[in-house]
Amino acid sequence: MESLDWKEYTTTFSANTLFGSWELAQHPNQDVYLILSSVVNLLTKDRLKQVDLKDIAYKGFNLARARTHNRCICCKGLRYKKADTSYPGILLDQPSYGRPYTMIDGKHRMMKLHQEKTIYSYFYVLTYNDIREHLRRY
Ligand SMILES: [Zn+2]
Repeated sequence: MESLDWKEYTTTFSANTLFGSWELAQHPNQDVYLILSSVVNLLTKDRLKQVDLKDIAYKGFNLARARTHNRCICCKGLRYKKADTSYPGILLDQPSYGRPYTMIDGKHRMMKLHQEKTIYSYFYVLTYNDIREHLRRY
């Protein structure tokens, strides 16, 4: 994937993200975040699974198209345009908004996969136990 600097990337689980409420069930009323570089060593082949895209809750999935894709509210579409869908996103194996998986990383790739009318794709699936020790509080 094109010059991905993991240290630059964090995922926030909070009731007050730009994309709405995304707090973790295990951390009610707490703002926690994950530095993606801390879980890179967990991205192993045995955790790679094929998942139906409609089983994934990701930041932006419940927003109008006018606020995602080319007009993404977090990047004005810049990260969407650069998104490389050949690189698997990262999921948490627990539900949000009634969908079985919660996305940790890869929302712009998800927007692109939907645009390409993809149904299934590969994702790294982590459990809460995998990420628990890596979560940080604001
Ligand atoms: Zn964006």
